[in-house]
Amino acid sequence: MNTLAIDIGGTKFSLALFEGERIVDRVTRSTDQEGGREWMVAQFAPLAKQWKFHRCGIGFGGPVNFAQQMVTLSTHVGGWHGFDLVGYIRRELAVPAVMDNDANVGAVGEAEYGAGKGFSPLFYMTLSTGIGGGIYADGQIWRGADSYGGEIGHLNVRPDGPECLCGSHGCYERMCCGLWLERDFGRPAAQLMQDPAFVERYVVDLARGLKAAIMLLNPARIVIGGGIAKAGDALFGPLRAELRRQITAWSRARIDVVPAALGDDSVLWGALALAKTL
Ligand SMILES: [Zn+2]
Repeated sequence: MNTLAIDIGGTKFSLALFEGERIVDRVTRSTDQEGGREWMVAQFAPLAKQWKFHRCGIGFGGPVNFAQQMVTLSTHVGGWHGFDLVGYIRRELAVPAVMDNDANVGAVGEAEYGAGKGFSPLFYMTLSTGIGGGIYADGQIWRGADSYGGEIGHLNVRPDGPECLCGSHGCYERMCCGLWLERDFGRPAAQLMQDPAFVERYVVDLARGLKAAIMLLNPARIVIGGGIAKAGDALFGPLRAELRRQITAWSRARIDVVPAALGDDSVLWGALALAKTL
């Protein structure tokens, strides 16, 4: 059984062909901000039609109403509001398709094929251009009433902090995501993570958000994906120390925080897992 996996992010999108549980071909392209949704979707069919597959799983970089299988909106690329992507894939490529937001899909990928294998419940977080979260428990994603479960990015970690794009102040994403780090400090996040003095300060806010997840969910493990997590021990060492400081000894909740094992492919593997439910 072959599967087409699609990962639609803010700055790029990827298509991969799985034969069983193996990636045999893939394409990644940069997003054309000007072209918006119409441009991107027009790329899918010609790329995918070179491959033979029986089903399709999609991770979308923005809120998705899972029950209705509709994109709610994209904060990065215009023209997605209410677009029936799953219907489009069905019509154009003649295969069944299923979609969820990329943090949820990344969570499934890491839970079933990556660093979260055997850990339930699992909290997965993407620490990238933005911040997203996914809760995986007892073999499935916990989505909440309106598919917004796990969205940790707009938790207020500094209520007196700078204004966020959402209108609130000091949101987790406003304080910790790659987009804002670069705007606030004038250097890309990857560079900032090489500076131990910077990381020392950064992990204070980063740990605040994760502490909320740990207190609320008592996860067996937290997996962090996305570009910033690639900093590895330079980030995870200070982060674990800060978590142990913030989560005082009265709580016996475990502090098990590790980087994603599937690197840039968490969402593609999750899309495979999601497509298997079709
Ligand atoms: Zn916000």
